[in-house]
Amino acid sequence: MRFVTAASAAILAATFGSSALAQAPAQPAAPAAPAAPAPQAQQPMFSTTKVEGTDNVYIFRYQGHQSMFIVTKDGVIATDPIGLYRPQAVTTYIEEIKKVTSAPIKYVVYSHHHYDHIAGGKPFKDLGAKFVAHKRAKERLVELKYPDVVIPDQTVGDKGSIKLGGTTLELHFVGNNHSDNTLVMRLPKEKLVFIVDMIPIRGLAFRNIPDNTSPIAYENSIKKVLAMDWDRMIPGHPGPGGRLGTKQDAQDFLGYLQDLSAEVKKVADANKCFDTAMREVKLPKYESWGNYANALPMNIERYCYWWGRGY
Ligand SMILES: [Zn+2]
Repeated sequence: MRFVTAASAAILAATFGSSALAQAPAQPAAPAAPAAPAPQAQQPMFSTTKVEGTDNVYIFRYQGHQSMFIVTKDGVIATDPIGLYRPQAVTTYIEEIKKVTSAPIKYVVYSHHHYDHIAGGKPFKDLGAKFVAHKRAKERLVELKYPDVVIPDQTVGDKGSIKLGGTTLELHFVGNNHSDNTLVMRLPKEKLVFIVDMIPIRGLAFRNIPDNTSPIAYENSIKKVLAMDWDRMIPGHPGPGGRLGTKQDAQDFLGYLQDLSAEVKKVADANKCFDTAMREVKLPKYESWGNYANALPMNIERYCYWWGRGY
């Protein structure tokens, strides 16, 4: 899934004009402008940026996906391999890490089990990295048997952490949301979180919001993220202009889900679910957000199941 718009891709190209290391913006200067058409081709295939204000935290982006990696004197903690249908993304990821450090890659942490983020990790495994995920991510991957996914070596439940070379990376499970196994990764010293697909920055939820058992659980998990101590969020897909997310963005996405929920409840009570609701409900407040036109009917469908059928 991708939340990046053509306009944000163009701005990204201007901001991160090459694959060379550059400083990522620390905080957004202003709210993102509404999307305008721009050619996708302006964006370089990949980029590696050091997160401003940190000593050792990097973002590796390949096309519309991105991962965080942390460099310590004792080794590297990498995250999602982002190699679905493109093994070159993974070898590029490793090459980009090698440009920063000669320290070994000790860990690969999965954000959640969806293939577009975690497929293709074998080259990391071949280098001796240990794979870490939430316990339900491993259960699902064992069931699914997708050939191009490395099965996690180590799992965590509600909370875990990785300590390496003076860095602590906390791993938090905050309930079901975009998946039933998403890990919120937090760097306490840097007050940074890496959260994939759960909290789009000024974008709608993916399609019909699959894989969450309850929209209420989804809202609750965002509230738990808001209660955590962090300033900046690295998303799994570049935000508008390539910027990082803020607590305001998380609050705004929660507000979107709540507004959507309230609107769909009304039409569900009037027996308009599914198709009439999917055609008629509009949320003009969010018209400028990524994926508004194509995702809104499907987002409505999810809430029609909930308020119209109870599941
Ligand atoms: Zn996902």
